[in-house]
Amino acid sequence: MQGADSIRTRLAAARAQLVAADIIDSAQAVRLLMQHVLNCDRAGLILQEERALSPDELAAFERLVARRLAHEPVSKILGEREFYGRAFRVTADVLDPRADTETLIDLALETPARRVLDLGSGSGALIVTLLAEWPEATGVAVDLSPAALAVTLENAGRLGVASRLTPAEGAWFAPVAGRFDLIVSNPPYIPSADLAGLEPDVREHDPVLALDGGADGLSCYRAIAAGAASQLEPGGRIIVEIGAGQGPDVTGIFLSEGFRHGAERRDLGGHVRALLFTLPG
Ligand code: GLN
Repeated sequence: MQGADSIRTRLAAARAQLVAADIIDSAQAVRLLMQHVLNCDRAGLILQEERALSPDELAAFERLVARRLAHEPVSKILGEREFYGRAFRVTADVLDPRADTETLIDLALETPARRVLDLGSGSGALIVTLLAEWPEATGVAVDLSPAALAVTLENAGRLGVASRLTPAEGAWFAPVAGRFDLIVSNPPYIPSADLAGLEPDVREHDPVLALDGGADGLSCYRAIAAGAASQLEPGGRIIVEIGAGQGPDVTGIFLSEGFRHGAERRDLGGHVRALLFTLPG
């Protein structure tokens, strides 16, 4: 029998609240939040759908739904998100890893690398995924934020690559020594004046340090392109994420520093999202 307070009914009611607040992916959000309360997977949820929630379960679910209604992303409510098939811990101190960023991994994996540098590692989505995919590789993760670097290291530990990853706190190449055959970066690329207009999920829950790309959104690419040549092996590659429409400008910046345009990848929205440059060796 399906009671008025069955889990199924609670899910539908919460979903209607999110839809009314214009929150996208509402069906997936309420399902993930309920699974978290019940500590079960999707199949486990389906098995229980007709039962009623206990008062404690209901209170817990309503607290989580209220947070989503206040525009907190599901990944930050749960403290976790999947990236390239692996579960990453996500906190208020790091950028929520996006599915778009997986295009950088696709591009990187086309050619194996032994020594990898991630500039602005945040959650560690890029460097930890690459070290997990390449069991022989070692890496350095740079971040200006010690709190973010701690999350990178936590994810490296969770995913079994910590012994091959060295953290380095500081700005871009400042704390880095030696040469690499691959540099990856998803730098901040939002023009400063656009930050206030971002949707609240991003504006209020991703660190501004991970978003603000300076007056024209391109200042991080200038710093990275200027320093990259002296830190890459001859023939080395650099792969950067870019914002929608930034391809020509970012390509111009790298070409002016002596790089060659190598390849690009589009995200599911059709925007060029990942650019690869090579250093002629
Ligand atoms: N490298 C991390 C990611 O791709 C963080 C990037 C950032 O904070 N701008 O998700």
